[in-house]
Amino acid sequence: MAVERTLAILKPDCVRKELIGDVLRRIQDAGFTILGLRMTRLSKREAEGFYAVHKGKAFFDELTTFMSSGPCVPVALEKENAIADFRALIGATNPKEAAEGTIRSDFAGSIGENIVHGSDSVANGQVEINYFFDQATLVANEPVG
Ligand code: ATP
Ligand code: MG
Repeated sequence: MAVERTLAILKPDCVRKELIGDVLRRIQDAGFTILGLRMTRLSKREAEGFYAVHKGKAFFDELTTFMSSGPCVPVALEKENAIADFRALIGATNPKEAAEGTIRSDFAGSIGENIVHGSDSVANGQVEINYFFDQATLVANEPVG
């Protein structure tokens, strides 16, 4: 299997519920390497840019209002098979449908406020990581030893 990168975002509900540590613990326990980590408050416009693929959908305004409602924590991650493995770790978009033991099943309140984002392809992961991190930072953060 190939080593891949994915972008996680611990969403504003994760920060408000004081679950940053719990979610990062699960991510690290699952074998992901953290290459970048920040805390930032997205403007509505930045949230609209990040989720541009969903423009025109019924939930777009709700989604981008929520994503700009408070600070979030983007995390650049690396692992073999990272895209699929991370989506398995977080579970289905709707927490009611998410498998038992997944992050969304255990922590999320609703489909709109579902704790964490995960990239859906290697190509989108690259674009999404670039949205928050510059390449030099990721290289500098590569683990040593
Ligand atoms: P994400 O991209 O955040 O990792 P996802 O890939 O599981 O989530 P998408 O279909 O990409 O799901 O939708 C992006 C986000 O939009 C979801 O995480 C959710 O917060 C929100 N969303 C999706 N569908 C709905 C809906 N029907 N009602 C409200 N919010 C929704
Ligand atoms: Mg998605």
